[in-house]
Amino acid sequence: MIRPRSVDHYDEAMQRNGEISLSMPLTALPQVGAKRAAALAGLGVTNLGKLVAYLPVRHERLEAEAEVSQLAANQNISARGQVTATRIVMRTRRPRFEAILVDPSGRLDLVWFNATYLREKIHPGMRLRVQGKAKKFAGGLQLANPKWEVIKEENEPELREARIRPVYPASAAISSAQIEGAIRAGLPVALPLIEDHLDAAYRRKRELPELANAYRMIHAPESEEDAAAGRRRLAYDELLMMQLGVHLKRAHLRQTLKAPALRWSEAIDRHIRERFPFALTAAQDAVVQDLVRDLSSPTPTNRLIQGDVGSGKTVVALYAMLMAVASGLQAAIMAPTEILAEQHYASISRMLEGSKVRVKLLTGATAPAERAVLIEEVAAGGVDILVGTHSLITETVKFASLAVAVIDEQHRFGVFQRAALRSKGIGSGEDNVTPHVLVMTATPIPRTIAVSLFGDLDISTIAGLPPGRHPITTRVVSPEKRAEVYAWVRQRLDRGEQAYIVVPTIDAGVKESEEGETGPGDVRSLLKSLEEGELAGKRLAALHGRLKRSTREAIMERFRSGIIDALIATTVIEVGVDVPNATMMIVEHADRFGLAQLHQLRGRVGRSDKKSVCVLIADPTTDDAKERLAVMAKTTDGFALAEKDLEIRGPGQVFGTQQAGGELFKIADLSRDLDLLKMARRDAAAWIEQSPTLSRPEEKLILRRLVKAHGKWIGLGDVG
Ligand code: ADP
Ligand code: MG
Repeated sequence: MIRPRSVDHYDEAMQRNGEISLSMPLTALPQVGAKRAAALAGLGVTNLGKLVAYLPVRHERLEAEAEVSQLAANQNISARGQVTATRIVMRTRRPRFEAILVDPSGRLDLVWFNATYLREKIHPGMRLRVQGKAKKFAGGLQLANPKWEVIKEENEPELREARIRPVYPASAAISSAQIEGAIRAGLPVALPLIEDHLDAAYRRKRELPELANAYRMIHAPESEEDAAAGRRRLAYDELLMMQLGVHLKRAHLRQTLKAPALRWSEAIDRHIRERFPFALTAAQDAVVQDLVRDLSSPTPTNRLIQGDVGSGKTVVALYAMLMAVASGLQAAIMAPTEILAEQHYASISRMLEGSKVRVKLLTGATAPAERAVLIEEVAAGGVDILVGTHSLITETVKFASLAVAVIDEQHRFGVFQRAALRSKGIGSGEDNVTPHVLVMTATPIPRTIAVSLFGDLDISTIAGLPPGRHPITTRVVSPEKRAEVYAWVRQRLDRGEQAYIVVPTIDAGVKESEEGETGPGDVRSLLKSLEEGELAGKRLAALHGRLKRSTREAIMERFRSGIIDALIATTVIEVGVDVPNATMMIVEHADRFGLAQLHQLRGRVGRSDKKSVCVLIADPTTDDAKERLAVMAKTTDGFALAEKDLEIRGPGQVFGTQQAGGELFKIADLSRDLDLLKMARRDAAAWIEQSPTLSRPEEKLILRRLVKAHGKWIGLGDVG
């Protein structure tokens, strides 16, 4: 075999010193100096392996350069030449910057619209390389808004051949082209060192390239197909690893962990239902049936209950918790905010009034002395149902016998959180006993994504709303109409109805509160201006997260009992708050809220048989905001909104799949890789079924990589 001499030398030298490995420093590459290595380190790229794993965000096609006289109209072309003249044309709808580019064979007209800043960058005498789509123009050719780069005369490059160029996330210290240069230098050394964790037969069946080749294809593609095939393999790997983790964990849970099998009988069922002030809807009943089946089996439950805002998830959760209590065991429900925890505590206590069930509340606001006593009580089994905030799971709470744990309003599907909860176990020394876990969300998730991403969850859906609800009318109005809006609010307050008025922030901070037509954007200023103006004489109160818990509880209680007419609040009331007599939701500066947030806010009204209205006051400036508001006015269906949200923001944002430390996926993109995700899911399920612990000798490599990528949340940190 003939290999280039230089590489040979390189290999030998490196191997002799035992230095050639994916963990060798970048300065070991002759082409990478200290300065460049430092710039790469700034991007987290500190060794050869990380260099090769630094992936492009996309690829772009660079056209072959040709002489100007050879260029044809209506094609993507690339040319170089000297700028001979430039000018700005202002008196037009779209001010433009024009330049003339000349090479020995002819002339090309360049124009950039809305880009007068280019006058600072492009000057006569410069040499440029340009690329764009050519059009016939005044007898010659014109490029509109071409890409351009300056050519330095000292080292003018060869005429370029067509190629696909990877585009890397760059920094001020290093450009994408410089990153590409370093990667190209590293590839010949690194690729032979990269072992594949999938064997040839496996790859062939799925038309996946070998791993080293996939890296070559994505960094140095010969064609667009090449780049796509490389990307596909790496995206598949990423999804496969995640799915293997999910299935491995599920298998592990099922085999090694037991949950208490709870008792159920018709008498228990009757006793539980007697506590509810209404009959369950058919949709709620169906979910209760899922739960009864889950909880009466010793296999730990991991169920996601999704239902639109106001669909009545709380009583379903309470049903499950009372099943635990009926078996003499404990239950806990965790909410994302203190207000919501407080509300759950109040409503659960109300429903259980006069029963023997002991319900307690624990939040970040619980006083230390009270907390110490409570924690002891929980550990001794003196509390049946503990209500609290999520922070509760990070507290040092030990349960005597936790059988059912409910995580309410979980929009971020932190696998971490659920893992943390699991480890709470039942706490009585039998290590293998774990609670049943229910996760509740009002963020509907398209089934494919949920099942695939969180394959360890079963899913129940509460379809529809409880009976007797009127649909909520939604209006988007501009700030000039504020006076009319509040005159109308006033009328309805006079009739004994109640309102929420939501603004983006608590106080205006250092900068002056925004005045004039748009109205104040903060709780304090708005409260003041309404008290003195539009709603003078009405009983108003401010509600936000910075108030003391006791103050907040008192305000909520007064609002609930009708002593307060309207709450001026931040989004602390976004999630879960339930006051049926509140029929008006006014959102100021509504363009500053996301779709899911607005839907949650709107869900605070429409909770009785009175007609409810949601008024979004906004003067949207971006297309995005306009679209959100239009969608809100048009639909009240949370599922339809979720789909739309997915379209506008993408799945990562919507489902909070970003984990601490960045995006969950580096290269896979759920908006286009759903098929790949399904394939990875199928493959992972089959694989783990065959080999539930991935401990065959030939699985050593994949297990090692899996632990490295996901060990933390699947609880495999100590394996391998
Ligand atoms: P969410 O699903 O948003 O958490 P909640 O559990 O807060 O909804 O329920 C919303 C409202 O509907 C509450 O006031 C609750 O008491 C009421 N509700 C729930 N189920 C029923 C039912 N079957 N019939 C009548 N009202 C119900
Ligand atoms: Mg709720």
